[in-house]
Amino acid sequence: MDTQAETKMDTKAFKRSLNNSDNYHRRGFGHVNEAMDAMNAEYQSDLIREIRENNYVLKRGNVTIHLAQSFGFCWGVERAVAMAYEARTHFPNDRIWITNEIIHNPSVNQRLRDMNVQFIEVENEVKNFEPIANGDVVILPAFGASVQEMQLLNDRGCTIVDTTCPWVSKVWNTVEKHKKTTHTSVIHGKYNHEETIATSSFAGVYLIVLNLKQTQYVANYILNGGDKAEFLELFKNAMSQGFNPDVDLDRVGIANQTTMLKGDTEEIGKIFERTMMKKYGPDQLNDHFVAFNTICDATQERQDAMFELVDKKLDLMVVIGGYNSSNTTHLQEIAVDRTIPSFHIDSSDRIGPGNRIEHKPLTGDLETLEDWLPEGEIVVGITSGASTPDKVVEEVIDRIFALKKM
Ligand code: SF4
Repeated sequence: MDTQAETKMDTKAFKRSLNNSDNYHRRGFGHVNEAMDAMNAEYQSDLIREIRENNYVLKRGNVTIHLAQSFGFCWGVERAVAMAYEARTHFPNDRIWITNEIIHNPSVNQRLRDMNVQFIEVENEVKNFEPIANGDVVILPAFGASVQEMQLLNDRGCTIVDTTCPWVSKVWNTVEKHKKTTHTSVIHGKYNHEETIATSSFAGVYLIVLNLKQTQYVANYILNGGDKAEFLELFKNAMSQGFNPDVDLDRVGIANQTTMLKGDTEEIGKIFERTMMKKYGPDQLNDHFVAFNTICDATQERQDAMFELVDKKLDLMVVIGGYNSSNTTHLQEIAVDRTIPSFHIDSSDRIGPGNRIEHKPLTGDLETLEDWLPEGEIVVGITSGASTPDKVVEEVIDRIFALKKM
């Protein structure tokens, strides 16, 4: 069997040696209180605190705001940003780089730039590691980095500050287990998302499925065979090198991008479980299918809170978060599914001048809409993705009040 597992590096051994290196840090530097104080001053909001204390509702004049009961910064993001702040304090005179946005939020990334943390440039979709020198400090963001990037930085003698969220590391451990038991990792995610790129770099043989439709396609191929050329074309960017659907779908294990819709990940797991049961019978199931729970609590809580919020009578929704933030897009999907007019924006600057909003629909480019806030009494639902500080949510609410002349 020509699998990537045979040709790739021993990622487990590499991670183990990295963990033992003095140049590798993944637990902070003892300045966490200072870092949290600075973050609270910059990102917390008194208004949001008030709304939380008021059962997540705020009414002013003819505007009622309903906040989701769980939204905004998750602990993995807080931890990553705090570690980046700590790194600046701990290495005051060193050049510090970050391999990607620390999280998907423009204001937090700008704050790091202001602290003289440099972002590795991307040219034609390829990162340029050239300017990074021996002895530089390099931060890996909350959603991780590929094992090849880690190796490059380690070989170059950099100090690595790894802020990868432990939930993401848990998925990496899961694909390592699949590799050991020669299961193909079926990863529910977006093949070009940084987290999934990192996860697949730790996997042996893998296939990335985006949604239930692709999953059904693969399940059907497992049970009935199909057009191999079509399969390879469909997943050409989403599978390990040399992937052979006639061989590599014999034993599968489930993994996920931590920010995908929880219900979809669970359903994808069930489809593969049923498929293997049908093909091999219940006695053989454990040999052909494995699944561990790797759905992140924070993603789950935010999605559950969104399902509760869209059950209320809302005139419209505002979903706040980076446009490349997967968990924010999924929150938007929930509102769109319920046919609630919903506006995904990444900052309050998208509102105005006047009663205008520039927002990102689920598919397609940014759109501008005039008169987006209806006249008279309105009820607005608001949520934000895991990378969005409360301060940004406050600024959005302030703009809505200002437009309604509150
Ligand atoms: S959303 Fe979950 S996996 Fe992602 S950083 Fe937050 S806690 Fe970690």
